[in-house]
Amino acid sequence: MSREEAREMVNKAVVVGGTHGNEYTGVYLLEKYHEYPHLLKPKTFELEYLLANPEAFKHNRRYLDRDLNRSFKQSDLKDPLLSGYENARAKEINDQLGPKGDARVDMIIDLHTSTAPMGVNLVLTQTDTFHLMLVDYVQQRMDDVTVTLEKQQDHHFLMTVADRHVLVEVGPVPQGQLKHEVFEKTEQAVQLIAEFIEHYNQHSLPQPSESIDIYEYFGVMHLPTDPLGNICGMVHKNIQDRDFQTLKSGEPIFHLFNGEDEFYDGEDCTISFINEAAYYDEKKAFSMSKKHTYHIG
Ligand SMILES: [Zn+2]
Repeated sequence: MSREEAREMVNKAVVVGGTHGNEYTGVYLLEKYHEYPHLLKPKTFELEYLLANPEAFKHNRRYLDRDLNRSFKQSDLKDPLLSGYENARAKEINDQLGPKGDARVDMIIDLHTSTAPMGVNLVLTQTDTFHLMLVDYVQQRMDDVTVTLEKQQDHHFLMTVADRHVLVEVGPVPQGQLKHEVFEKTEQAVQLIAEFIEHYNQHSLPQPSESIDIYEYFGVMHLPTDPLGNICGMVHKNIQDRDFQTLKSGEPIFHLFNGEDEFYDGEDCTISFINEAAYYDEKKAFSMSKKHTYHIG
């Protein structure tokens, strides 16, 4: 094997759970792997597990001081003035798995859940051949898999500590709860990702699809608020549970406490994370994306 090939290989991967402390599926899937290590035993790479936010998990909260999955910008990791539990934890994780940009581990698989019926949502931050082939591999072997892209300069996601990464977000499941179907789908996705890495390392990947559809986020819609900033309405029943469907101009999106409806006024787009419980801290109602088709290879 040439040195080039050795570098290309995924030699060390980490499965991360509990980046958000009240998303139990990832936390307990790690527990399961600890207890039954034979369930995930890759031959061509080392696998580690990390419970990312143990304090938030103890308190059944998404985070204590700050969203851990928004705390991994290089500028924040290097800022000695940032205090609070998650900023300190981000630096610890960066020391343990990274440092970001020159990381000890080659790949991070970060497990999340959504309260919205998102199915299995694989989130990428980049669209090179490796990542396109990875999500295609999973999508071809599992039902109900969508791929989204969240590009950003100096990304704030935990998983970006490693050059190669994927976020697995499965829903619907309430916060602080385990749901059989969601747990099963998450486990199946992890299994397929591990299988993909094995094939990749052994140069035995099957022929990928010609192209893949990916939803790229371009904005969020906030909940309606009064002049004091208090929520004054809710997500309209017209769009509830319509994740990954098209929203057209003129459709009702909010029902206000005063009895009136508010209507969407904009370009047709795909909406997801509709009425996501975790988004209430920032008063977000849903995310907006556009579908793009990527050629693979
Ligand atoms: Zn999450």
